[in-house]
Amino acid sequence: MSERRIVVVGASLAGAQAAQTLRRQGFEGVVELIGDEPHPPYNRPPLSKKYLAGETDYDSLRLRSMADPDELNVDLRLGLRATGLDVEAHTLHVAPAEAGAGSGATAEPHTINYDGLIIATGARARRLPGVDLAGVFELRTVDDADAIRAAFDATPSRVVVIGAGFIGAEVAATAREAGLEVTMIEAQDSPLQRVLDRDAGMAIVDLHRGHGVDVRLGVGVASLVGDDRVSGVVLDDGTTIEADVVVVGIGVIPNTEWAEDSGLTIDNGIVCDATCLAGSDVVAVGDVARWDHPRYGLMRVEQWDNAVDQGSYGAKRLLASWAGEAVDPYAPIPSFWSDQFDRKIQLSGMPGEQFEIVQGSLDEQRFVQIYSDAHGAPTGALTWNRPRQSMQARMLLESDADMAEMRDTLGG
Ligand code: FAD
Ligand code: NAP
Repeated sequence: MSERRIVVVGASLAGAQAAQTLRRQGFEGVVELIGDEPHPPYNRPPLSKKYLAGETDYDSLRLRSMADPDELNVDLRLGLRATGLDVEAHTLHVAPAEAGAGSGATAEPHTINYDGLIIATGARARRLPGVDLAGVFELRTVDDADAIRAAFDATPSRVVVIGAGFIGAEVAATAREAGLEVTMIEAQDSPLQRVLDRDAGMAIVDLHRGHGVDVRLGVGVASLVGDDRVSGVVLDDGTTIEADVVVVGIGVIPNTEWAEDSGLTIDNGIVCDATCLAGSDVVAVGDVARWDHPRYGLMRVEQWDNAVDQGSYGAKRLLASWAGEAVDPYAPIPSFWSDQFDRKIQLSGMPGEQFEIVQGSLDEQRFVQIYSDAHGAPTGALTWNRPRQSMQARMLLESDADMAEMRDTLGG
């Protein structure tokens, strides 16, 4: 039998982790890692933080899992985009990515036969519809970050950030720390409503206002104005905010279009079973994967920790299915961190209907808060500048600790 070939589509965090794991698990066949960006696999979190601030350089972004593809014997093909998939035939169609400058950029469109496929195509930034003005940016790639950094370096008179989600809040903090005038606009009456309770969301607003960010809540954006270049943002209450740089952070769209008509189920991501299996010999991992979490049901997680863990899991799951071994479902306790000004904000688990602060206070902007469900069972813990407690909370949640144990350990 000829060598088995596993193709990983998406050469970023989850894909690189999967490719590395295949080798660490002893897979000796061909591993091909295909990505449409021209850059070697890199880390995105610094793009809104230290890299945007100019405190770290391009080389430091490089992912350690794919630092030396040759040593791992991984065939890394950059600037190459997957354009179609036939799961039954086990074939993947690829073509050079338009702007690609990697090895794939010179290749003709062609078809790759695979034995196993790992889908790790992540997500892209949602754009404001109908806006095509210079000075308006989204932030997903290192090229986006370079463009925003250049715009900040030109000392604009005002930066407007649309959306007070993760991108909005982190970019606003970085811009403000660079001494720029910043307005942040959020349509909801508190930020990050999907991941935080209202009080914690308002603590983020206080943090930003305390550092001089002009935060506008409960108001949407009606239009952007300007000739070729943006000059202002019109809010739906009729106010116009002058702006020469606008950063849009209104969420992401999973990159699945290329896999339409493949035989896979696509619905806000690549839909998988509890073991990340999306189809015959196909697993999906990272931001693009929507899997059946045994505890929370169908979910898609857009966070760094998950991309790493799921990348590893997906590679092992594929190999286990070939070895005829059973695998446990993928059931992580989700977690994220966000750095804003001098605060490290971390959530382990999920928010719940009830919440109580067991250490510190919102006023101090340093606290530990436990979330619980309607029955009083803990669902998660939010910490501000309490990294040790965040780690403890994750372990407690993994071991199904009750509220008393959570309070005891995290409140001390
Ligand atoms: P992605 O990183 O989106 O990578 C997918 C890759 O696949 C991309 O290179 C894409 O171009 C490529 N691709 C797409 N379609 C195709 C195709 N058809 N063919 C070939 N290649 C394709 N998370 C945290 O937990 N904490 C943070 O502080 C944090 N900060 C962040 C800051 C920024 C600015 C951003 C953008 C994200 C941040 N995240 C953070 C989220 C985290 O980076 C993502 O969850 C993670 O990158 C997801 O990894 P992924 O590999 O699944 O997808
Ligand atoms: P996000 O965290 O999902 O926040 C997007 C915000 O924009 C939400 O408040 C959302 O409100 C709002 N919004 C959605 N559609 C809108 C529209 N049409 N007009 C105006 N507002 C709209 O997404 P993000 O901040 O853009 O971040 C992008 C991705 O990067 C996410 O995957 C995120 O997880 C990741 N990221 C993570 C971190 C971190 O973890 N520290 C840091 C940076 C980026 P609703 O909730 O009401 O839809």
